[in-house]
Amino acid sequence: MRRTYKLHLIMPATGPHVYEYVESVTMPPLTLLTLASLTPPNYDIRILDEAIEPVRPGPCDLAAISLIYFTAARAYKLADWYRSRNIPVVMGGPHATLCPGEVAGHCDALAIGEADELWPAILRDFEQGRMSGVYRAESPPDLTRLPPLRYDVIDKTRYDVQNLVQTGRGCPVGCDFCAIPALSGRAARHKTVPQVIREIEDSMRLARGFWRRLVVFSDDNLVSDLRFARELFEALIPLRIWWASQCSIAIALNDSLLDLAVKSGCRGLFIGFETPNQAALDGVHKAYSAARFGEAICKLRARGVFLLGSFLFGLDGDTRDSFRATVEFSLKNRLDFVNYHIVSPAPGTPFFRKLESEGRLLHRRWEHYQENAVFRPSGMTADELQQGQIWAYREFFRAGNIIRRALAYWPSVFRMLLVFFESLRVRRKIFAGIRSKERFLARSPGNEIGP
Ligand code: SF4
Repeated sequence: MRRTYKLHLIMPATGPHVYEYVESVTMPPLTLLTLASLTPPNYDIRILDEAIEPVRPGPCDLAAISLIYFTAARAYKLADWYRSRNIPVVMGGPHATLCPGEVAGHCDALAIGEADELWPAILRDFEQGRMSGVYRAESPPDLTRLPPLRYDVIDKTRYDVQNLVQTGRGCPVGCDFCAIPALSGRAARHKTVPQVIREIEDSMRLARGFWRRLVVFSDDNLVSDLRFARELFEALIPLRIWWASQCSIAIALNDSLLDLAVKSGCRGLFIGFETPNQAALDGVHKAYSAARFGEAICKLRARGVFLLGSFLFGLDGDTRDSFRATVEFSLKNRLDFVNYHIVSPAPGTPFFRKLESEGRLLHRRWEHYQENAVFRPSGMTADELQQGQIWAYREFFRAGNIIRRALAYWPSVFRMLLVFFESLRVRRKIFAGIRSKERFLARSPGNEIGP
């Protein structure tokens, strides 16, 4: 009989939760569920996800940690705990792929690239006592060969979104600030539509409560391949679900695709407009026409699709006026919800390399690289960038603006109440995050470098 091993699969958070407002909606850790589905049955799997509670490491035979740059410091602390007790640690994820030299010093084995096809080999080596060094994915994995996700290894009711499904990876666009092209390539790859449908059904079987019919697609752009998108939407119709996803505005500018999406259950979209400033869009090679944003939003609203617009502050081309212009754009177009991010120079991106070559990075303490001015912006000071983001959030979530957005849905009482109460929930989290950020900035000399 094969020996049973205790395996901890870990997703660390930013640590002190200084910027908790960006984590206002919790979702299942798909990376860990994917690893679980690729793990043989002789492993006793425990998922430790800091999105829902602080990780308390404990005895096990093997720990695997997925990290991104702003969780790296926390990941290293957790790895130290395991390694000091002679428990081997594997690290993978975006930071392991983009900064392997740094991560290698904190683990026994390093997975570079998408780890789906590496993981079985790592476990085989672990069982034979020879797991060490670098495991590198020579090419992106074939997603059509992946087994169904193991949704059963988590308690889904602890997450705001219970049904999270990924249909594909990779993005052909290549925005300068985004790490996806470096991590997953510029060719869109997909699972098969029957694979996706099976994952949705598996996931919904374990979901509970009113929102069990809500499915969120974690893809970076669900319509990166229009043929696949149409095939998927057709197959979703009989499931009678509500779904939401990140998408490019291409979905809103194609009437027949949008109608099919709505018919298949599309109720909410997350669109990264980034900025209404065309020069700033061009500067980061985001192939959008800002002049068409209003038209796209109108089409979505006319079909009753809730819209979360995401914006970046601090792009080259932004000035002190960009905050007001962005909030005015959001209010005028009646976006239901917004994310106002400070653009983050993710290692491995053209944006990071540009700032580095121009000597504009203030430091490399990755744990402060999320929602923080860690570089000298071109059109304002770093402190103005910090304060501008705070002002924009406060303005968008002012009580009067929330009421106006909700009343715009009259006579649909359901939609009015949904927007009103969800806005209050998000506002509570964001304002708590802002207070926390203001305390952090007050402690930080120059208001731009972490404590
Ligand atoms: S921001 Fe979106 S569109 Fe741009 S490269 Fe990243 S995933 Fe693609």
